[in-house]
Amino acid sequence: MPRLNLVVLGKQGAGKGTQCKRLAEAYAIPHVSTGDMLRAAVKADSPLGREVAAIMDAGALVSDDLVIRLVDQRFGEPDASRGALLDGFPRTILQAEALETLLGEDGIKLCINLDVPVSLVTERLSSRRVCQECGNIYKDTDIEAISGTCSNCGGDVIQRKDDQPEAIAKRLEAYERDTEPLLAFYQERGLLVVVDGAQSPDEVTAALVAVISERGLA
Ligand code: ADP
Ligand code: ZN
Repeated sequence: MPRLNLVVLGKQGAGKGTQCKRLAEAYAIPHVSTGDMLRAAVKADSPLGREVAAIMDAGALVSDDLVIRLVDQRFGEPDASRGALLDGFPRTILQAEALETLLGEDGIKLCINLDVPVSLVTERLSSRRVCQECGNIYKDTDIEAISGTCSNCGGDVIQRKDDQPEAIAKRLEAYERDTEPLLAFYQERGLLVVVDGAQSPDEVTAALVAVISERGLA
């Protein structure tokens, strides 16, 4: 079985995290989210975490070097030998080029753009709450958000600092400036597919599974 390396692109709030968790389970490949990895470092108060905390709270990007090293290390772990579902990486052209170098010939099989209009992601992000332990995502109206307790793991359910209005605007700007150029990058390589991320979560999952099977990837 060839390695299944998939890149999922999409604005903040497009549903990358939710869909990647489902696909990771369905295809038994790890969900590699640089955002989750960085947040774990912040929570653990490690030297890396202390270095990136303020940058992340403000909604700015951490350095290419730092995330490339993080992903390189992650690829060295045994479960990544089957492939990876990349969420939040690459998000600059420099990172995309570094990823090609890291993966060599057995490279990216597909890049999925989860496409959602700005108005909808803004609404989703402001009402988003997350479990600090397992990363499960809730809405502000869900019982888990109201009680502050995750029904999956019992962890604290909070609002991310970067899900507050000023940071949301900043992140969407960074996406447009730094990450949207990646659409052309993967298009040129014949790897880009667009999936409508405005559908319900189950409809999006079904569309993703269909694309992966149409391409004969799993
Ligand atoms: P979102 O896409 O919703 O902003 P993520 O969880 O993917 O959230 O990332 C949270 C933060 O972590 C980003 O705002 C940024 O500061 C940092 N980060 C994550 N991935 C990268 C990356 N590939 N390059 C630079 N910074 C990153
Ligand atoms: Zn949890």
